Amino acid sequence: MIRKVVLSVLGFVLVSGVILLAATVPARWQIQHINPQLPDWTALDAALHQPGGPLSLAYINTASQATTLGELGHPAIVIDWPDGRRFLIDTGMPPAEAQAFGEPMELLGAGPTRTFGAVDVQLGNAVQSVKGIAFTHLHSDHTAGLPGICVAQSQAATVYQAPLQQKELNYTTEIGLAALDDAVCPRAVLGEDVIMPVPGFPGLLAVSLGGHTPGSTLYAVRVAGKTWIFSGDITNDLRSLQEDIPKPWWYSTLVVPENVGRTAELRAWLKNLDAQPEVTVLPAHDVVAMAAAGLRGFDE
Ligand SMILES: [Zn+2]
Repeated sequence: MIRKVVLSVLGFVLVSGVILLAATVPARWQIQHINPQLPDWTALDAALHQPGGPLSLAYINTASQATTLGELGHPAIVIDWPDGRRFLIDTGMPPAEAQAFGEPMELLGAGPTRTFGAVDVQLGNAVQSVKGIAFTHLHSDHTAGLPGICVAQSQAATVYQAPLQQKELNYTTEIGLAALDDAVCPRAVLGEDVIMPVPGFPGLLAVSLGGHTPGSTLYAVRVAGKTWIFSGDITNDLRSLQEDIPKPWWYSTLVVPENVGRTAELRAWLKNLDAQPEVTVLPAHDVVAMAAAGLRGFDE
């Protein structure tokens, strides 16, 4: 009897493992074939040299969780132009979504999720001056804050997407896309190019990356001679970038189907950018690195 139970449990685990792997085959095939051209530093540097660029930038952390690999924050980046307009890169999560996101992480040894309020709440009146929003990729921990921002605005901001982020979806980004579909903000697609300027926001550039998701996108901006590069989830922290540490194999295979050859190439490319004078690369979840790099917390 016990043998029978053990065998059927083992069989169940094996069959579900095979089904899970089979279900992720199309997504893994797709991401292996997304390798957009990367610009070198000289080209990025020249493109960032724009009149009328932004004045300042800050971050708003919506939630944080202590994990075995360090602090995992869920921030939005706020960029200010001289005419008072603001742009957001990623939108973090409202408290309920952040708690739900953190629960499975606790099973893997992470601490409880601490929440600090949705981006629209932390922005206060400044939410009205947000005129553009973009995402490093369409995972719900980056997009869930969007609907709240759009409804709080008297005139909704435009959501900008790189062509690959708009066209190439998988079962992980379709969940994050739901927040864009729920939001009342209109959407625009950037022009097809290696370096994609965001129209109306001089000095803000996008570069398609792939690797983590088909639509993973880098955003770069220069403020007072210093270049800030937001690399999304190519790595979860700055140390993994600087020391060339890949994510665990089970994460890149079963949790989020990644192109691990591409993420390795991107780590080397981003490390090289980070080594340039007056350039700081910041992974999306590394709020500790953001504070250490001198990025200030948002206050009106
Ligand atoms: Zn993320």
